Amino acid sequence: MARIAFIGLGNMGGGMAANLAKAGHDLRAFDLSEAALAKAEERGCKRAASAADALQDAEAVVTMLPAGKHVREVYESSVLGQAPASAILIDCSTIDVATAREEIEKAEGQGYKMVDAPVSGGIAAAEAGSLTFMVGGTDEAFERAKPFLKIMGKAVIHAGGPGAGQAAKICNNMLLGASMIATCETFVLAMKLGLDPQTFFDISSQASGQCWSMTSYCPVPGVGPATPADRDYEGGFAAALMLKDLRLAMEAAQSVDSYTPMGAHAEELYTRFAEKLGGSGKDFSGIIKMIDDSWAPPALDSR
Ligand code: NAD
Repeated sequence: MARIAFIGLGNMGGGMAANLAKAGHDLRAFDLSEAALAKAEERGCKRAASAADALQDAEAVVTMLPAGKHVREVYESSVLGQAPASAILIDCSTIDVATAREEIEKAEGQGYKMVDAPVSGGIAAAEAGSLTFMVGGTDEAFERAKPFLKIMGKAVIHAGGPGAGQAAKICNNMLLGASMIATCETFVLAMKLGLDPQTFFDISSQASGQCWSMTSYCPVPGVGPATPADRDYEGGFAAALMLKDLRLAMEAAQSVDSYTPMGAHAEELYTRFAEKLGGSGKDFSGIIKMIDDSWAPPALDSR
């Protein structure tokens, strides 16, 4: 069993670290939040006094941090040069492709093996150990990270070289954001045209319009499988996180001069929903409330 340093024990990292500890690994956990640390301790991790303390004798270092600036700060102030040279470095945060590539390049320059390994799946999947990991890095780095990722996930896919995990993640989520909006406006139109939403679901989910946002995550309450729509859009994948990923996608698109009109429009609509209409904490499928003016929910009535 390996000694693992885990930095960033928030909504996602907390469950992921607990699963590694449950599998018998020796977890040294660090977070700036006392509450997160106490919870990790209850769940089988050993509390570290600092990131540097967590790194002592670590065979693997896992980070699950909010954004690129946190990853850069933690890697450059605490991990690089301080983690044992033999440790495999695994960053599971969702960050911009450029920062992921830069940090891997710096790590490799110092003799480390490192992967970017962002996840698909939310807090429930982190708890259940059923995340999907999209991994960027060399073949050797991927093979070394894989046994640890397999404990935390149901699928571990090598996306390509450094940064390829982040590229796959933001491309997937750009498609998801755009397809969710298309699904929402389609259901609203269907209902306004007098179609019963369940009947439309039965038809379209077996016709050429079907997509994951409809069949697995229908934004209309009571239609299709149980989804956040049935809980007034609580839980699930927050609109603020979808907006974060769409912004990363737009930044990446600009950097390679790729034309992404649907992604750009999705970003604009999620900005309106999350930042102007107070929907940031709601599940991202809650954007249907902004599209369907007949619902006129109180918090969102200033469309
Ligand atoms: P979170 O805000 O709940 O957790 C982040 C943790 O990092 C916090 O506990 C914070 O205290 C800690 N932290 C920040 N700076 C630190 C530092 N310098 N040293 C130590 N700890 C530090 O966020 P989350 O929901 O767990 O998301 C983490 C990452 O996973 C993000 O990049 C997010 O985009 C991605 N993600 C989240 C979800 C989701 O559903 N929540 C799904 C997929 C991917």
